[in-house]
Amino acid sequence: MATSKLKAIIAGGGIGGLATAAALAQRGWNVTVYERQNELRANGSGIYIWENGLRVLEAIGAYDDAVRDSFRGTHFEQRDNANQIIESAPIPSDRRLITTHRKQLLAALRDACLRSGVTIQTSAEVVGATPRGELQFATGETVRADLAVGVDGVWSKVRQTLGLETLHEQTVEGALRTTIAAHPDDIPAKDAGKYIENWNGMRRLLITPVNRESTYLALTCPVHDVEARAIPVNKQLWAETFPEWAHLIERIGADVSWGVYSVTKCRAWSSGRTAILGDAAHAQPPNLGQGGGMAMQNGLALACALEGIGSARDIPDALEAWEQRERELIEHCQKWSCLYGEVTFLPDSVRTTVIKAAMADPWVAGQVFRAANHSPTGTLAEAAVTI
Ligand SMILES: Cc1cc2nc3c(=O)[nH]c(=O)nc-3n(C[C@H](O)[C@H](O)[C@H](O)COP(=O)(O)OP(=O)(O)OC[C@H]3O[C@@H](n4cnc5c(N)ncnc54)[C@H](O)[C@@H]3O)c2cc1C
Repeated sequence: MATSKLKAIIAGGGIGGLATAAALAQRGWNVTVYERQNELRANGSGIYIWENGLRVLEAIGAYDDAVRDSFRGTHFEQRDNANQIIESAPIPSDRRLITTHRKQLLAALRDACLRSGVTIQTSAEVVGATPRGELQFATGETVRADLAVGVDGVWSKVRQTLGLETLHEQTVEGALRTTIAAHPDDIPAKDAGKYIENWNGMRRLLITPVNRESTYLALTCPVHDVEARAIPVNKQLWAETFPEWAHLIERIGADVSWGVYSVTKCRAWSSGRTAILGDAAHAQPPNLGQGGGMAMQNGLALACALEGIGSARDIPDALEAWEQRERELIEHCQKWSCLYGEVTFLPDSVRTTVIKAAMADPWVAGQVFRAANHSPTGTLAEAAVTI
């Protein structure tokens, strides 16, 4: 029996929720997304999308819109507190890395959903879920479907009410995120094409071109560094910390957000006919730029796992098989993203030695980029490998 009559309801209209919705609808499901905010709204500035995430965008028909006019980097570079290059890793041409605006990515995913017949309902706050495929709303209403999916972010009500959570930890480090207007002479010609991560003590400045018009800046520091994490941004302090980039820092405007990172872990990704994914199930610090990639690829994998099931009764088994297949890689990525974050707390000279040694070791580099190099379930490259 085809899945054309099956109904899915999704809590959360973020990156993962929309990717999941599009992938399910493209496989014949009748899908409704419930989003708490009064419109689909991206939180944050730019976003890195590695090869794995780009393949998912291609598979669900959102790639062209998501990356139009966006920046494709050639090198990922780390610099020390004296602006000396620690490591400048070329990005191989078969492992694309593209940076785009979050709002552009979200709009591309929304449009892929709408083209696939997904219904998106905003101002719909989910307060709980049951294993019977039910979502409960703040209004007191309950909606039941063959499948419910919680993609409702790090504070997921779906995860909490299903009793799946084993860990929700917030990191000591956080980030101020903003976008500034790009000027042609912002980055010296020799550094064109680079993403540049600058370290000084426990402060970090990540410079990310997004397109010709804008550059995404992430200024990271521990939560106890109150001067550094202040909003409005203490530009003098940050310019003193990274004097080579004072010309960018002075252009920071009022549109800045601060947030620490979350790590979430669960005993299982589903209970009955209700699943969770994305930050709700496997949030990670942004050190590898993969949280959104993992959310999208796991949403597509979920849809693939449910393709061709005989009836709604088969959903719990299919969800278990999905978790079995996908969990190891996603937890690997989460672990290495957490490990990378540990270098923040090393003295400058030790950090330089550790980064140099780690990236020169092919095994370590393989672990760090394993997720980026992976062909996600449901993508063309994966099909070519399996055939
Ligand atoms: C500083 C920082 C930088 C990052 N950089 C990158 C990067 O470069 N690349 C990358 O891949 N990832 C990055 N990430 C991670 C990435 O942002 C997340 O992993 C990704 O957004 C997860 O998608 P999601 O759909 O699971 O959750 P979210 O994007 O958080 O979406 C959840 C959605 O659910 C809605 N919602 C929440 N509660 C409810 C409710 N009760 N009812 C209904 N709706 C609800 C929210 O409003 C939201 O729209 C970064 C994260 C941070 C903090």
